[in-house]
Amino acid sequence: MKRRVAIVGAGISGLACALRLHAIDPNLEIVVFEREGRVGGKILTERIDGFTVEAGPDAFLASKRGGLSLSRELGLEERMVSPVPKHRRSFVLSRGRLVALPQGLSGLVPSELKPILRSRLLTPAGKVRLTMDLVIPPRTAIEDESLATFIRRRLGTETYERMIEPLLSGIYAGDGERLSLAATFPQLRASELTHGGIIKGAVAQNQERASRDPAQSPRTGFLSFETGMSEIVDRALDVAKRNGVRFVLGADCSRVRAEPGGQPGYRLAVSRGGEDQVESFDGLVIAVPAWAAVPLLRDTVPGAASVLARFEHVSNALIVIAFPESQLTRPLHGYGYVVPRVEQRDVMAMTWVSSKWTGRAPEGQVLIRAFVGRAGQTAALEGNDESLVQLTLRELKEVLRLDVVPTITRVYRWNRGMPQYNMGHLDRVNRVETELARTPNMELAGNYLHGVGIPDCIVSGEAAAANLLADFREQARQASVPASPVAN
Ligand SMILES: Cc1cc2nc3c(=O)[nH]c(=O)nc-3n(C[C@H](O)[C@H](O)[C@H](O)COP(=O)(O)OP(=O)(O)OC[C@H]3O[C@@H](n4cnc5c(N)ncnc54)[C@H](O)[C@@H]3O)c2cc1C
Repeated sequence: MKRRVAIVGAGISGLACALRLHAIDPNLEIVVFEREGRVGGKILTERIDGFTVEAGPDAFLASKRGGLSLSRELGLEERMVSPVPKHRRSFVLSRGRLVALPQGLSGLVPSELKPILRSRLLTPAGKVRLTMDLVIPPRTAIEDESLATFIRRRLGTETYERMIEPLLSGIYAGDGERLSLAATFPQLRASELTHGGIIKGAVAQNQERASRDPAQSPRTGFLSFETGMSEIVDRALDVAKRNGVRFVLGADCSRVRAEPGGQPGYRLAVSRGGEDQVESFDGLVIAVPAWAAVPLLRDTVPGAASVLARFEHVSNALIVIAFPESQLTRPLHGYGYVVPRVEQRDVMAMTWVSSKWTGRAPEGQVLIRAFVGRAGQTAALEGNDESLVQLTLRELKEVLRLDVVPTITRVYRWNRGMPQYNMGHLDRVNRVETELARTPNMELAGNYLHGVGIPDCIVSGEAAAANLLADFREQARQASVPASPVAN
């Protein structure tokens, strides 16, 4: 008999899970339920009047496990594109002016000192304090600390506020004072312990990379696809459908109950087009945001539901504006800029899309994206879409001295879109996973568990598939073991 598996949520986590389930066991009957009328979740590329507009992520990290491998499995290797190399630099808004982010930053932290010491981003005192990382002994206490505390301790307050904080805001839309070091950048703590400091660790890593045969070196940097991030979603959907996976769109899953009478499996309540129905499945993967998983887990795994209800999320909005190139007063040579929290502005980052990527705007047009909303700075989101467009036009005027008349404008809102990996995150995830490990045939996947990036989500979906099938195998094994003879 075919086992039936339901996946709730068709974001990249759910899609990766569906593909992996079929790859491991082609005999499964897999059904994916998705609340929206489309698959992809936060990944959405729109084509508007010749522009390619990313409403959510615009790239993924090549070096992280998951993204590249799935792209290759889906035959997308030839479709992958990198940002335009000749514009490869980014800026930081510092005391009202754009200052180039120094070269030699490896991830979040410096791996070369010279460019930082030459940069105008830090004051001489800030630079001296940063180099003290080379001599400050490692902290011996083993408890976790916030990212802000750690970076301040090693590199100083100025480096944290002016250089590191805006970069990590760009990843988590979070507050460094609350983000957990262990849950976000454990490799930095490992550098401190192994090499004696962040800079020494980054330098050692660079040397190790340089010593490798370039042909063997893994791909690095950011990647997208020729026509945008939706390519990976569209291809995953095609392949999954060809493999017999069924997608039910516009299907809002509201509740999960265990099969009655101690039977294995679950009953999933689904509303679709005003109709409610309940379907039975042998296994279930819940691949939705943490807050959306709470009602689904409440009846079957209440302990996990109550921990998930405490996960914090931040809302944000992405404002897209295009305008004729003739309105530029100078070329936008770069990928864009980030804005430190201390600058106290509503826009936290801006990408100059048409400079960063080829073919995203028609000839003679400029395309930009502005990000609004991060932990503790979400007041601007209360305004309507027009106010967000006006805010971005003001930003263009004040920072880039551009008075533009837009060709197109779009606002994409991501309500509770970014999970916050705050202090205690690893403990909370551990508690949720322990509860789920005791619940057979049910798995979780998503961006709130072990990383927010697309590669992390893919890995989480694939791991959920492997764990679910391990449960099935264990049950089959137990069923085939003859009952032990009753001792007399
Ligand atoms: C603005 C923005 C920019 C980003 N930029 C990047 C970037 O450049 N690079 C990067 O790697 N990452 C980026 N991220 C993060 C990354 O995009 C997300 O973490 C990832 O796409 C989440 O995938 P997911 O499948 O876990 O969740 P989602 O994409 O949220 O998918 C979950 C799906 O579940 C559905 N769902 C929810 N509840 C139910 C229910 N009850 N019944 C049925 N369906 C339900 C939802 O409709 C949704 O489709 C960005 C995120 C945002 C918001």
